[in-house]
Amino acid sequence: MGKKRCYVCGREALSKNEIGLTKKLLDKESKRFYCVDCLAEYLEVDTEFLLAKVEELKEQGCDLF
Ligand SMILES: [Zn+2]
Repeated sequence: MGKKRCYVCGREALSKNEIGLTKKLLDKESKRFYCVDCLAEYLEVDTEFLLAKVEELKEQGCDLF
């Protein structure tokens, strides 16, 4: 997987979690990726909510993480 940058703020080298969240919550085929802060703002949720979501999805064995 090549390096991805945030579509909104341009931050480079997004983490696997950030890329996984974008795919899971927005679009599996998304070509635009969001860092966790911009994704939280976009979805109007807390960053903490997204981080908890990552842990939840990991526990479910989601292969995006
Ligand atoms: Zn960003």
